[in-house]
Amino acid sequence: MLLRKVSQSSALCGSILRIPAGLSRGQRHAGAVVAVQNPRLYASQAAEAVLEKTAAVGSNTAAKVEKTISTESKSYAVNIFKGQIETAQVFPYPSALNEEQEQFLRELVGPVDKFFLEVNDAAKNDALEKVEDDTMQGLKEMGAFGLQVPSDLGGLGLSNTQYARLVEIVGTYDLGVGITLGAHQSIGFKGILLFGNPAQKEKYLPKLATAETIAAFCLTEPASGSDAASIKTTAVQSSCGKFFTLNGSKIWISNGGLAEIFTVFAKTPMKDPKTGEMKDKISAFVVERSFGGVTSGPPEKKMGIKASNTAEVYFDNVRVPADCLLGELGEGFKVAMNILNNGRFGMAAALSGTMKGVINKAVDHAANRTQFGNKIHNYGVIQEKVARMAMLQYVTEVGGSSYFLMRDLRIFRIFEGTNDILRLFVALNGFQVKSDVRLRTL
Ligand SMILES: Cc1cc2nc3c(=O)[nH]c(=O)nc-3n(C[C@H](O)[C@H](O)[C@H](O)COP(=O)(O)OP(=O)(O)OC[C@H]3O[C@@H](n4cnc5c(N)ncnc54)[C@H](O)[C@@H]3O)c2cc1C
Repeated sequence: MLLRKVSQSSALCGSILRIPAGLSRGQRHAGAVVAVQNPRLYASQAAEAVLEKTAAVGSNTAAKVEKTISTESKSYAVNIFKGQIETAQVFPYPSALNEEQEQFLRELVGPVDKFFLEVNDAAKNDALEKVEDDTMQGLKEMGAFGLQVPSDLGGLGLSNTQYARLVEIVGTYDLGVGITLGAHQSIGFKGILLFGNPAQKEKYLPKLATAETIAAFCLTEPASGSDAASIKTTAVQSSCGKFFTLNGSKIWISNGGLAEIFTVFAKTPMKDPKTGEMKDKISAFVVERSFGGVTSGPPEKKMGIKASNTAEVYFDNVRVPADCLLGELGEGFKVAMNILNNGRFGMAAALSGTMKGVINKAVDHAANRTQFGNKIHNYGVIQEKVARMAMLQYVTEVGGSSYFLMRDLRIFRIFEGTNDILRLFVALNGFQVKSDVRLRTL
């Protein structure tokens, strides 16, 4: 049954968002389909922008052209460091979508919100310490695992703005589900989207978009967290050049126990072209569990986001074909940082949804809870708290009912860069506008 046909045009058939049946428990398979209007390669455009930026930074550094890049920056944050306000970035409020994109987004928002209200059960997922099977199936049928995969490769081809709006809905209702979806597409296979060659994209993205295979991002190791360049996992190229032998172990990998496809970072010995010396440089690889030698540990017991799977992943003499190298040999650090920079965008969008959701809950609680003979929203101190929450989106203070969300939120100060490291990152980015301090070229 078609939920709605957007248009009769044949151009509409490139991809579909399938809303699982009936949108309520027990009625999941009646089927609802939303057609996508003129699917375009928005995700690829975003990827190209990142690559162009990277290329620009790299060549400028080589030519020792300092300061000019940042002087010309249109970034709102960078310009604050220069004592300037880039008003064009904020006034008028930027409209990032054209009419067609806005229309498509409107078609998606309602059904996705309904799915999370009526089908997904966050408390049950939390108790099960996994995303319930029916919900997982529903999300797959909706196309929720391939939001930014180009439509000709089986995804929805959403732009960053469209993606952010949908992720915001997920964050409103269930961060455990959010991490499962995010670890898959926001970091798990984002490297293939950003840096994959056409053959890698064609081989992997269609199955990843439908979640026939799940992806994970493998950077962190027992002795390497914030200092990602210190990883010890190795990938040594065979003398024939046809494969790499991968050895090492990764910890705290989201989706690590579920994934079939891993983006793995490892040290590869390389000859320094200037000195002729051998040096270890980080490279990125797409690794399939089916290669053999890939195993994962049991799910970690966590304080929050319990529904998301977190596990150790071990690579024991894994034979990785040379065509699974992602990006250039020795350029893996750049791949990792670009993926994480992208991932944080999704995290911010999800948490914005969480904040709004919790404000809603807090207001509802305050309006209905009676203490000392009065609804507590009548008390000045509660009004002040709610006002502050609305103002700062500070959402975890009113009542115990927000406790679960506070627990789930804790992790967001840690992964994809701890708050300490991200503050350093912002500050260093700012300092380099005016001084010779330079971040390592990404
Ligand atoms: C639930 C969960 C899921 C995760 N999922 C993934 C995943 O899918 N893939 C993956 O690769 N990793 C994943 N991680 C790992 C995560 O990215 C790391 O935990 C994170 O990068 C921080 O590393 P660390 O925990 O080793 O802390 P450390 O780097 O050991 O830092 C410890 C403390 O020291 C501070 N610190 C470190 N260096 C500095 C400095 N220079 N200046 C000031 N303060 C500093 C940190 O901010 C932190 O407070 C996950 C972690 C968790 C808990």
